[in-house]
Amino acid sequence: MARQIEEWIRPNIRALAPYSTARDEYEGELGIYLDANENPYDNGYNRYPDPHQRVLKRQIARIKGVSAERIFIGNGSDEPIDLAYRVFCRPGVDNAVSIAPSYGMYKVAASINDVEFREVPLRQDFSLDEEALLAAADERTKLLFVCSPNNPSGNSFPREQLLRIVDRFPGMVVVDEAYIDFASQASLLADLERYPNLIVLQTLSKAWGMAGLRLGLAFASPRVVEVFSQVKYPYNINGLTQRIVGERLEHPVDDQVHELIAQRERMLRELTGCPVIRQVFPSDANFVLVKVDDPRGVYEALIEAGIIVRDRSRMIGCAGCLRITVGTPEENDRLIRVLKQMK
Ligand SMILES: *Cc1c(COP(=O)(O)O)cnc(C)c1O
Repeated sequence: MARQIEEWIRPNIRALAPYSTARDEYEGELGIYLDANENPYDNGYNRYPDPHQRVLKRQIARIKGVSAERIFIGNGSDEPIDLAYRVFCRPGVDNAVSIAPSYGMYKVAASINDVEFREVPLRQDFSLDEEALLAAADERTKLLFVCSPNNPSGNSFPREQLLRIVDRFPGMVVVDEAYIDFASQASLLADLERYPNLIVLQTLSKAWGMAGLRLGLAFASPRVVEVFSQVKYPYNINGLTQRIVGERLEHPVDDQVHELIAQRERMLRELTGCPVIRQVFPSDANFVLVKVDDPRGVYEALIEAGIIVRDRSRMIGCAGCLRITVGTPEENDRLIRVLKQMK
């Protein structure tokens, strides 16, 4: 498998020289830094940040129980999604396979990289037909994206099914776990060592409450992390983000996550009783997907009430669907009250 991964890396990327910045040759702390043309007067941010994010990686390694050499830190999850294409897919030649409906960025990044994107519809109940997914791949399929819990459907796919796909697919499988902290099912992080072709994406934008700081995580084999690091912009995570994220990670968000899960369960219950809502889909995430007869009308009526939700009704398999994020108890009260009054 390790040899295969080497072959799946685009030849021009495989040939890159190991990556090095001005400060890579020196690891100590007490030097006089005259190597990077910075302003020498300390204002907290006059120095370039650590391009390897060593401190943060040690911290994340401890929190996630994954060794630091398996962690790639990106400027949001969008960065590792884009890097996966740039590293594994030859533009105009290779292709990627994914499920639909799912997160829009997989397709956007494919288009930008001139990579054919093949979407395999989920079943009507949003379950995953793994035979259809694998059948969509050919010898030029280098990447397969699955999002679990899936956005916008909210459901998780069974772990055993995801692992079977990773096991059977002869290419890299990216499993996006942006919502894993809200799920009852365990992460695939524990399976990384057994599956060198697995890339698990997580983010600090959802459960951790740091969407504004832009920090996405990719967990993968050390070789994949090494190549991603060679291809990324050297200073992709700025010094302010590294510092503040480091501070915030010391304060667990378990209480907020439990509250959001309790509020999600309450929303699932209460929305089921709204006359305007035809169907409420199960959710393992911090949002719920509901089906109505007139999605645009309901969307606009909610706007009138000062509540903004996401109209997903034009996505494959989502006719009539609105996606509603779980808010604070007071925000959810308001939403439920407004929806209950609609006919
Ligand atoms: C929100 C979300 C992300 C996170 O994106 P960031 O760039 O890390 O903020 C990733 N994947 C999915 C499916 C999401 O819904």
